[in-house]
Amino acid sequence: MGRVKLTETVFRDAHQSLLATRMRTRDMLPIAELLDQVGYFSMEVWGGATFDSCIRYLNEDPWERLRALKQAMPNTPMQMLLRGQNLVGYRHYADDVVERFVEKAAKNGVDIFRIFDAVNDIRNMEKSISAAKKTGAHVQVAVSYTISPVHTIEQFTDFVVKLSELECDSICIKDMAGLINPHDAEQLVRAIKKQVGLPLCLHSHCTAGLAPMSYLFAAQAGADILDTAISPLSGGTSQPPTESMVAALSGTGFDTGLDIGLLTEIKRYFEKLMEVYSPVFNPISAKLDTNVLVYQVPGGMLSNLVSQLIEQNALDKYEEVLAEIPRVRKDLGYPPLVTPTSQIVGTQAVLNVITGERYKMVPKEVRDYVKGLYGRSPAEIDPKVRVKILEDEEPITVRPADLLPPEYAAAVREVDGLNLAKKEEDYLTYALYPQVALKFLKGQAEEEPLVKKKQPGAPSHHDHHGGPLAFNVEVEGESFLVKVAPAGVTIQEAQPKAPRDGVTVPMQGVVIRYKVRKGDTVNKGDTVAILEAMKMENQIYANKSGVVQEIFIEPGTTVSPGDVLMSIS
Ligand code: MN
Repeated sequence: MGRVKLTETVFRDAHQSLLATRMRTRDMLPIAELLDQVGYFSMEVWGGATFDSCIRYLNEDPWERLRALKQAMPNTPMQMLLRGQNLVGYRHYADDVVERFVEKAAKNGVDIFRIFDAVNDIRNMEKSISAAKKTGAHVQVAVSYTISPVHTIEQFTDFVVKLSELECDSICIKDMAGLINPHDAEQLVRAIKKQVGLPLCLHSHCTAGLAPMSYLFAAQAGADILDTAISPLSGGTSQPPTESMVAALSGTGFDTGLDIGLLTEIKRYFEKLMEVYSPVFNPISAKLDTNVLVYQVPGGMLSNLVSQLIEQNALDKYEEVLAEIPRVRKDLGYPPLVTPTSQIVGTQAVLNVITGERYKMVPKEVRDYVKGLYGRSPAEIDPKVRVKILEDEEPITVRPADLLPPEYAAAVREVDGLNLAKKEEDYLTYALYPQVALKFLKGQAEEEPLVKKKQPGAPSHHDHHGGPLAFNVEVEGESFLVKVAPAGVTIQEAQPKAPRDGVTVPMQGVVIRYKVRKGDTVNKGDTVAILEAMKMENQIYANKSGVVQEIFIEPGTTVSPGDVLMSIS
């Protein structure tokens, strides 16, 4: 083995970045034997979005994938990405679920756990770190890298020193947005290596075009491991190409010692495979995007943003939203933008722009973040914003998971009640993703076909509920809501009796539930309904005080901006 080791990301981050996490296990296995001969430090194969994607889109059991890959690559350590207390989901789970999940992941084949927290709150990592250590696995603790006035080389180094005092075996600088430049990579690696004796890995993305240069500087400064992806799945929002890094370091004191001939053979397989996956390959994700240098928005978040705006018929607001993101991020104390904080900041920025008033509408997840339920923000949250969102409620000061009662027993009860468990892991799948898991465990999930999705701009999102398209049209500075439908389709007025001054929704979404019933007395500003929009729960408030006269729209209905939910008199 050479001086610098490589972690191959093709089965996790690379296809998560370029192929919407859609690679199937059956397309991984044929090349596994060759990959196993390369001599990687590890293969990143599990965690991140792969778990969710398996059960949601591929009708695959993620646990089976792990076992199959482990069996096919017995000589290469299997690595997973674990979001601390979030595991592979989007919220914090109770400690008992964390412990069991980590234990089962190790049992099914994970040798190396890379553990991080979106806001670098060590309290969100402790439980999974100790659970992973208990299994005997290699624990790699990661610091989420970002750029902000409060994130300095010293601050990152201090954090890494604290992390290294926990039970761990290596350190990772996780630059999920591809922001780190060669100079900072060199400084940071040097500063960490000076204080911490553990192997150090740099993980970055090519989004801004910096990563290959930063890797070289990092290697020269003493980094031990670099994350790369075999070339057909490299570049853009993915990692630097494995073969190029091997060639770049070849003949230097940092030579990886890997066989470029073998890598080329592997590359041919993935070249062919990329043709199969072309329907889910978004060329934009493979392009350089220097916007990230200005907005600090990771590639995945940008594509998310575009689809949110299309859904809201507000793609024309893209630039405005892009400019709003750094402002929201500042207000919220400069969280690094990675799942789930990227969704939290991005969605709030979208809402601030499309509602025309900052923090007029605040999803539950943003409120929870401000309340401290995601951990301590890197810098103080703007007090004005905090008060506007929480009003007189106080943020929590304890470890967020301390507020979560055990969850595992209930998951077992519910799954057993339906007689759906074939193995213990099924309880965990359910505990993490109750709704999607139920469908999957019942055998009702279907593999999504590999066909091209409708192009952005096509009214695909509106077809399925049969509603008209809604546009905000500006005439001499005044905004009007205009609904249009294809010729021959009459615009069905969902609420013929709905008064103009009722409670309206400001954006497209699904009415999940009402908090009030006909005849209830409400005060202006009370939450009267929950609207799911952009994958988050948003509260809809009473527009005046009075009695609920009529509710016009059934829960479960998709609504468009301006639709009237209820009248209050
Ligand atoms: Mn990444």
